[in-house]
Amino acid sequence: MTTAALGSPRTYHVRTYGCQMNVHDSERISGLLEQAGYVRAADADNPDVVVFNTCAVRENADNRLYGNLGHLRPVKDKHPGMQIAVGGCLAQKDRGEIVRRAPWVDVVFGTHNIGSLPVLLERARHNAAAEVEILESLEVFPSTLPTRRESTYAGWVSISVGCNNTCTFCIVPALRGKEKDRRPGDVLAEVRALVAEGVLEVTLLGQNVNSYGVEFGDRLAFGKLLRATGEIDGLERVRFTSPHPKDFTDDVIAAMAETPNVCHSLHMPLQSGSDDVLRTMRRSYRAERYLGIIEKVRAAMPDAAITTDIIVGFPGETEADFVRTLDVVREARFASAFTFQYSKRPGTPAATMPDQLPKQVVQERYERLLAAVEEITWAENRNLVGTPVEVLVAVGEGRKDERTGRLSGRARDGRLVHFAAGSYAGRIRPGDIVHTTISYAAPHHLNADGEPLSHRRTRAGDAAEAGRAPRTGNGVLLGLPTVGVPSAM
Ligand code: SF4
Repeated sequence: MTTAALGSPRTYHVRTYGCQMNVHDSERISGLLEQAGYVRAADADNPDVVVFNTCAVRENADNRLYGNLGHLRPVKDKHPGMQIAVGGCLAQKDRGEIVRRAPWVDVVFGTHNIGSLPVLLERARHNAAAEVEILESLEVFPSTLPTRRESTYAGWVSISVGCNNTCTFCIVPALRGKEKDRRPGDVLAEVRALVAEGVLEVTLLGQNVNSYGVEFGDRLAFGKLLRATGEIDGLERVRFTSPHPKDFTDDVIAAMAETPNVCHSLHMPLQSGSDDVLRTMRRSYRAERYLGIIEKVRAAMPDAAITTDIIVGFPGETEADFVRTLDVVREARFASAFTFQYSKRPGTPAATMPDQLPKQVVQERYERLLAAVEEITWAENRNLVGTPVEVLVAVGEGRKDERTGRLSGRARDGRLVHFAAGSYAGRIRPGDIVHTTISYAAPHHLNADGEPLSHRRTRAGDAAEAGRAPRTGNGVLLGLPTVGVPSAM
């Protein structure tokens, strides 16, 4: 029975925490709820159903969740029939504990059974009791679920879920399970469906895209998949995240370089520049191998922008280890880096390791790392001043500066560009393509203040103007009102 059958449609609101994988899962949660007859709440403060799509990676994630659930309790008391559902990694981890600590929660669902959410909500309403359903492994590949896409011009496409690695700081293998690879034909069908709706850019998503294919016995499957996306007419930009240095093969570099629509941007987590720390992290590559991949990528694509993740202050990290990380950062010349201070994540092997570092040591190293990263990213950005750039105009990205009238978007290499619309003012829509020239560089963005060289109207821009975003899953593609991209936390 759908909610629509019960009278006026019930409204929902999804709150998303964590990584891109979660943001994409939230698109599926929205798609599922809408297929079941719910409508997105205009007033996010007072929906009939609130879904928390949680993350277990961030520090104090559980305190924040229980704090947020506590704030909702009086709201729910005043709103008869309101339901609260908690899903995502923290739900997978805490399971029944959530309804014990917050008995006003109606549904707890895990990372493997997103598709059950509408049924669990209905069952909880019918039985007037909490429903907790956590599965140990995936039943249906999530990409077959209906998906309410948030963007008219860019879409995420999962190629795999789960991870076969055992990095000691990471909770993902425990919560998302072993890697499951989607078949290339299914991935490409989803990409084609998005492009048919006007999407220009796709990001292929997996915890470790370089091991894509292990499950169906083709070690070269990821490079082949990249090349196959090059055959799709109308697909202008292909990105992927995240590769793992351990599994990175030369054929992927060749596929990136030789497939015109694959962007020359590579986000490859380093985590540490010290071989000893990499060993205790159970990351089975070494700094030399990491730098070797970068060298090959740069040889094949001199314009490649390489970005990374770095953890500072991992248990046992010495000053010498940290200096090695700084050395690798200087050698790699990253276009940007996400830097994290190590903190214990319950349930991970690293949380119980000896030699946890004092907070002030971690903080001091973190500040030095940040300064080094920023010096390099700024210098790299300054090298681009005076060069032409193609910008895919974004919505909700960076700023649309009212004072200067600048719009924002991403260059092919992933850099954020704020640009003047010049004589095209009022005609450029999110999803359109603008060519312009970089006039100024800051550490985290570029400006282009001159008259654009050109503006191209796209079907994604038409869809944005008409207020439509593509919807995929179960073979359906429907036009829907578009809303701002949810922020990942
Ligand atoms: S590769 Fe390591 S860090 Fe990445 S998801 Fe797998 S276990 Fe976690």
